[in-house]
Amino acid sequence: MNVIYNPNRSQWQELTQRPVFDVTELFSVVSPIFKAVSERGDDALKELELQFDKVSLQTLRVGDDEINEADSLLDTNLKDAINKAYDNIYAFHDAQRFEQIEVETMPGVKCVQKAVPVEKVGLYIPGGTAPLFSTVLMLGVPAKIAGCKQVIVCTPPSCEGKVNPAILYAAKCCGITEIFKIGGAQAIAAMSVGTASVPKVDKIFGPGNQYVMAAKQLAALSNVAIDMPAGPSEVEVLVDDTCVPAFVAADLLSQAEHGPDSQVVLVSTTDNDVVKLIEEELEHQLNELPRKDFAAKALRNSRCVLFDNMQDAIDFTNEYAPEHLIIAAEDYNDIANQITHAGSVFLGNYSCESAGDYASGTNHTLPTKAWAKAYSGLCLDSFIRKITFQEITEEGVKNLAGIVETMAEAECLDAHKNAMKFRRKSLNI
Ligand code: NAD
Repeated sequence: MNVIYNPNRSQWQELTQRPVFDVTELFSVVSPIFKAVSERGDDALKELELQFDKVSLQTLRVGDDEINEADSLLDTNLKDAINKAYDNIYAFHDAQRFEQIEVETMPGVKCVQKAVPVEKVGLYIPGGTAPLFSTVLMLGVPAKIAGCKQVIVCTPPSCEGKVNPAILYAAKCCGITEIFKIGGAQAIAAMSVGTASVPKVDKIFGPGNQYVMAAKQLAALSNVAIDMPAGPSEVEVLVDDTCVPAFVAADLLSQAEHGPDSQVVLVSTTDNDVVKLIEEELEHQLNELPRKDFAAKALRNSRCVLFDNMQDAIDFTNEYAPEHLIIAAEDYNDIANQITHAGSVFLGNYSCESAGDYASGTNHTLPTKAWAKAYSGLCLDSFIRKITFQEITEEGVKNLAGIVETMAEAECLDAHKNAMKFRRKSLNI
């Protein structure tokens, strides 16, 4: 790892940069895919699946047989784990339900805010290098609680043309039956424009690689909403002398193994010896990993920033705004209280990111690339809209008319003024 000692604040901007993707180049790959899907629908999708996922598909939708077979293909342990994770994710997201609010702002002026679900949602489940069935739960559970009327899933198939059975099982747990074997930008294009097989949706959710992220940004320019820019994953582990080097190394590697474009950052207030122990653990654990090539590449994009005081470490963390932040330090609660920019925060030596990735209950779809400064991670709110209602009685007109008419007149909007004035006059006020 590249170790930087006590960088001064003028260096922080450079140190908090993510690996740079050439967005122009990504759009130049993704735009023709959108054009092909818009113009030639399912035929284009099948060609693109052949090109990018090396699979020739007769039908894009997963059939009932394949969905039913998934149950028998999975071992009981995995099904139990998925069921328990489902329960925890359900419990945490169910507690996020929005209660309708009703306020009488003035006598006779009642304002109401009510939640309604986004009706048609499309969930993208990454599957290029690993079948992320946990993402089905993270997106499908809040969609179910919110009461979305139509929930569809797109995920890249294997080269045998199958969807991983764990993805199908997790989808079944969430009550999702419309599943399509489509990956990457073509999946996002299909859900945003609609084809003969794939319904057009109102909002697209889910993480993915840089092509998926670029495609979502392109989709957002048309008439479909997206959850957030959730691209290649990243973690910061903030440590002091009380950290356990083996845990820290495992946490860094758990993020690095996502893909060569992942980023891991170690921020430390320890002396160099602790960093050396973490590095030794990294080397040792890396060699045992099946995905060590991915992890090793991601580690090359990564760095360790050593500070001589915790306040600088915290300020640097807020500047970096990591997707995941693990605080392996004695005063983790005090430090956490000062964290203002992060997607999801893991407190203390025992709270590993994997817990949140799979099963503790929080959502793992989180803003990357410092978007945590402006976006929340996925939650129940992402699947609902809040509509306001108001009811004004005669007494309300009496109380509000003067204010509205004065303001409308000052903005030179006479029709606005008239809308209130005519009502007031009809009441002889
Ligand atoms: P993926 O499903 O995102 O992408 C696979 C698809 O990419 C393929 O189906 C293919 O269509 C397309 N593709 C591949 N090469 C292409 C090319 N050269 N041109 C055009 N399209 C191409 O799966 P993945 O690649 O395994 O990536 C998963 C990503 O999701 C990782 O980057 C991981 O870090 C990220 N992730 C993020 C979060 C989050 O919350 N931010 C959570 C989980 C995963």
